[in-house]
Amino acid sequence: MSVFENAMEQLERAAKLVKLEPNILEILKSPERTVTISIPVKLSDGTIKIFQGYRVQYNSARGPYKGGIRFHADTDIDEVKALSFWMALKCAVVNIPLGGGKGGVTIDPKKYSEAEIEQVARGWARGMADVIGPDRDIPAPDVNTTPQIMAWMADEYSKVVGKYSPAVITGKPIESGGSLGRDTATAQGGFYVLEELKKIIEIDPESATVVIQGFGNAGYNFAKLVHHAGYKVVAVSDSRGGIHDEAGLDPEKVMEHKKETGSVVGYSGAKEISNEEILEIPCGILVPSALENQINSDNALKIKCQVILELANGPVTPDADEILYKNNVHVVPDILANSGGVTVSYFEWLQNREGEKWSKEEVFEKLEPIMADSFKAIWDKHKELDTDLRRSAFAIAIERIGGAIKSKDLI
Ligand code: NAD
Repeated sequence: MSVFENAMEQLERAAKLVKLEPNILEILKSPERTVTISIPVKLSDGTIKIFQGYRVQYNSARGPYKGGIRFHADTDIDEVKALSFWMALKCAVVNIPLGGGKGGVTIDPKKYSEAEIEQVARGWARGMADVIGPDRDIPAPDVNTTPQIMAWMADEYSKVVGKYSPAVITGKPIESGGSLGRDTATAQGGFYVLEELKKIIEIDPESATVVIQGFGNAGYNFAKLVHHAGYKVVAVSDSRGGIHDEAGLDPEKVMEHKKETGSVVGYSGAKEISNEEILEIPCGILVPSALENQINSDNALKIKCQVILELANGPVTPDADEILYKNNVHVVPDILANSGGVTVSYFEWLQNREGEKWSKEEVFEKLEPIMADSFKAIWDKHKELDTDLRRSAFAIAIERIGGAIKSKDLI
């Protein structure tokens, strides 16, 4: 099934469980708007290359669309649609007044220079300028998009509309109106969720090992947090492969190696493993932090962990969900586990609109109770409905979005 079909299967399952009104379900099955643009870029050899850019505005019943922009060779409109749907649910799970959107460009950024990437970023912002905006749709970073790329996009948008508009995009560098704490917010939010789960299912940091697939913004920052909290990170990976050491890895040293060589692979003293094998290592906490569909019906039976914390979006397919639930693996769903990112993006947007600057402590003091309360609500719902954590998170989200749709008398 495609990523969007997986997302719709998850929706159908939760809708059935909470007996969602058919009209609301019908609305939730389609994005409100899908935009595709061509971005012409003059490459360093003088030739013009056209890149495809996307923005999907899924649902705005609870507020302006919000969601990142992905630069990846495999990105297409189906993937962006699924990601934008999950964003709508994510904002509802943490109960922030935003809807869901997502963007992307089909590009392998490793093949292009910084100047060429800047042209792609500015081209995307120019092409989307009449559909995004601080009160309309607020993008942010995702896979392969950085604070620098957000700064170029915010600058280009400001030029098009003729006024300084930092609140159009979040995840910017601090000097361009970014929020302190946004760079580590996704990992920090996932860590707060793990702290809450630990109180219920008795995870012991001393003995619980952690395996992380994907060593970028989400995966690396999470590795650092759990390492400092006393957990043993035994394996990590990136797009080129993984490394495994039962004695434990120091994430900061692994990052130094990655910066020098371009990958975690080759880190001294660790065994090399593939991205498929890393998922099958017996461990306490498995943290998919890369891409979708990594745990599916082919490998779900081989997963041997106590908890899967989905920092990536959509890493577990619906078929795999069923298998893992039967095998008593707690899958903490993406729309909760990685929602720290959008929550601090919301804080950045608020600061930009009010002309304020919050300290990092203030940001995390506000984030922690949101993550903890959202987790508790989902845990209670899963007990009440006798179902998995994904269905209960979906149940809470679709009831909130459904309530917003009905309150405007749309149906
Ligand atoms: P990133 O670009 O910083 O890092 C991605 C990492 O995944 C890199 O280490 C890359 O090498 C690795 N990777 C790519 N393809 C891989 C593959 N096939 N197998 C294994 N590793 C692979 O991106 P990120 O921002 O950390 O995003 C990672 C995931 O987290 C995505 O699913 C994203 O949607 C999700 N997410 C990110 C944020 C955020 O704030 N950055 C927020 C919510 C969700």
